[in-house]
Amino acid sequence: MSATETDTNGPAEERTPSATRIAGHVRALCSLGPDRFPGSDANREAAAYVAGALRRAGCVVDEHRFDVPQWRAGTAEVIAGDFAVPALPGPFSAGIDAVGPLVCVETAEKLAGVDSTGAVLLLHGEIASAQLTPRGYPWYQNPEDTAVLEAIEALEPVAVVSATGKDAMTGGRSPFPLIEDVTFRIPSAYLGEADGAALAAHAGEPVRVRIDSETRASYGTQPIGRMPGAQAGRVVVAAHFDTTHGTPGALDNAGGVAVLLEVAEALAGSRTAREIEFVPFNGEDHTTSPGEVAYLAARPDVSDIALMVNIDGAGLPGGPTACSLYGVGEEMAGRIRDVMARFGSVAEGAQWPASDHMVFALRGVPALALTSTDFATASGVISHTPADTPDVVDAELLAEAARFIVALLAEV
Ligand SMILES: [Zn+2]
Repeated sequence: MSATETDTNGPAEERTPSATRIAGHVRALCSLGPDRFPGSDANREAAAYVAGALRRAGCVVDEHRFDVPQWRAGTAEVIAGDFAVPALPGPFSAGIDAVGPLVCVETAEKLAGVDSTGAVLLLHGEIASAQLTPRGYPWYQNPEDTAVLEAIEALEPVAVVSATGKDAMTGGRSPFPLIEDVTFRIPSAYLGEADGAALAAHAGEPVRVRIDSETRASYGTQPIGRMPGAQAGRVVVAAHFDTTHGTPGALDNAGGVAVLLEVAEALAGSRTAREIEFVPFNGEDHTTSPGEVAYLAARPDVSDIALMVNIDGAGLPGGPTACSLYGVGEEMAGRIRDVMARFGSVAEGAQWPASDHMVFALRGVPALALTSTDFATASGVISHTPADTPDVVDAELLAEAARFIVALLAEV
């Protein structure tokens, strides 16, 4: 039996996912900038945009409100004598304009023997080579990183300055914020490794740190759209619409959201076999994943999910959309591969243990993730940077990915 049944509202081709509409959604979402960081007005406007589009496609949409701080960041600088270095305010940092002696630390072990009360603490070298896992990150904790964050707080510096390069976990940003912890008590800023090395030459001298940044209480919403189905069990189609700070977020992930909206639009008015739940997640790129946490609070039992499909970072030209499988049984995998074979620009790709599909896969839900074949460029160069603009995504590739998902939903 066919899982979708078209009604009489119009010819079938009007329901085919369209590159033009996908490009329109990408532009619309990216115009809400400068970014869609949770807690911001633009993030709430984006939530309203996707909820509205899902309602127009016939979904029943619930919106779950969550508390999340709003972070506003201006500029930062570190001044040692006549040497002034521009820096970036650390995420969620308080603002400050203070002077203290410069204390430099290169390893976590050396934090123990340092007296930095009232000092400016420069973290560079090994200790600053990878982002410290934030306390309160819902999906995993790193006790060593927690110990480092607590040791820094206990040292009571007036400010922490980190000198960083690139970390694959933080996208294409360079420098990256070493500390991205909502609960971290010390004002912080970060700058590049070369500037850090130049600054370290001023160890022991008085250094001025000026950070224009503030964090205040705010909120966001997690929309969940549903299309009822006749059979038991649901299928979840997800794509996060939040971004990191300071990026338009086209490839990561307005493109994925556009695919989700086009799949909903393609199914509008049809009766699907299973309930389809459309989840534009609001927090994949946030250290507290507020939307994912709100979703699991609203729908804690995931045992009835037959398949979860996540689109994140898809649409980079130069290769097919890469589709990876997680915990999908032989029989379902066979059906997915049969559908994939009908689409020239969708191909099986390597698993990547990140993003929203892992929230489900780690709870035993069969999952499917769609991203770009050139994941290294999509994730490690473009994502999380100001260069992630609508022109980097191939709307035709995304339309084909949406058509693949529509075809797949008829088979599961
Ligand atoms: Zn993403």
